[in-house]
Amino acid sequence: MSRPILLLRLVLFAIASVLVTVSCTSQTPDVHESRFMMGTLVQFTLADIEKDKALDAIHAAADEMQRVADAFTIYGDKANAVKAFNASKPGSRVILPEEVSDVLQTSLRISKQSGGAFTPAIGSLSLLWGFSLPNPPVQPPAETAIKHALRGVDTDLIEFDGKTWKRLHAETKLDFGGIAKGYAIDRGIEVLREHGIRNAIVDAGGDLRAIGSHNGKPWRIGIRHPRQAGKIFGWLEVHGDISIVTSGDYERFFMYNGKRYHHILNPASGHPARRSISATVIAKNATLADAWSTALFVQGAKALPLLNAKGMQGIVMDAGQKIYTGSVALVPFHLENSKAVEE
Ligand code: ADP
Ligand code: MG
Repeated sequence: MSRPILLLRLVLFAIASVLVTVSCTSQTPDVHESRFMMGTLVQFTLADIEKDKALDAIHAAADEMQRVADAFTIYGDKANAVKAFNASKPGSRVILPEEVSDVLQTSLRISKQSGGAFTPAIGSLSLLWGFSLPNPPVQPPAETAIKHALRGVDTDLIEFDGKTWKRLHAETKLDFGGIAKGYAIDRGIEVLREHGIRNAIVDAGGDLRAIGSHNGKPWRIGIRHPRQAGKIFGWLEVHGDISIVTSGDYERFFMYNGKRYHHILNPASGHPARRSISATVIAKNATLADAWSTALFVQGAKALPLLNAKGMQGIVMDAGQKIYTGSVALVPFHLENSKAVEE
């Protein structure tokens, strides 16, 4: 990616997600710090804490998140167990680190529950489209190449015997791009807590977890408008421990023949999912919220009842910019303007 575009993206991310109410009393000022990782600007906001203590905690949390990112990525030159699995001989047994094995099992469960809308077996297809490669694509791949990659996109081709993992097809490759950021956020929050932090937000470009409160008041979390740069279409008021993750078609995309092609793929077609332009999930941890936001994006508003039945809250905007909220509200959601909300 060229530098000006990267910088522009950084600025947009910075405006994007968290709207922390500015405190104008004599309370301890918030401590802000950010680090670029996982392809995005990760922002830490800590409230009601001394600066030195906050910065120590943030540095430890950021290091842990970078460790997670390195352990799960399928990009770059550094070796890791996921890349080794993806390169393993089909049918051979591979031992994955416990952490990767656990996240893979969670991923497979969510894949099943979401009817395959979210799948960790999407690696070959993701690599083919190439949205996360150093040189992002400018046109879609050939249909024959998509069909070829799709042969491996099937969780039945991933086997676990309680100890070792196998992939059964050369095109079956893991990609944790739809869940690892959430898991990294959960680990980051855990490390902050180990450092005695009680009030914080870890926001990785619109994927976040909040704990505690903002000087006794709720945190205000804006949801970025997918078609109006720098604007939000609604906001949430949260306190306590909650995760809010948004999947959108505006982060990594290209236009080709007047059509938008983006990085959230429909495993049923092998093409970018078209039922939503933004999908937000509010859940008890960021790992779940991340995976389900990808699933909700792919399935669209029709998946809201399922999500709600599982105790999660969802907000979907479809291609016509209509907003759907479902029936479960774990936290209050406020629309930025008066556009109708469909239940
Ligand atoms: P973001 O990374 O922008 O937060 P998501 O959480 O929705 O967005 O994850 C998108 C990433 O997940 C893609 O870059 C790709 O690596 C992977 N992915 C794309 N489509 C799917 C899918 N249907 N199921 C699981 N992972 C997916
Ligand atoms: Mg996701």
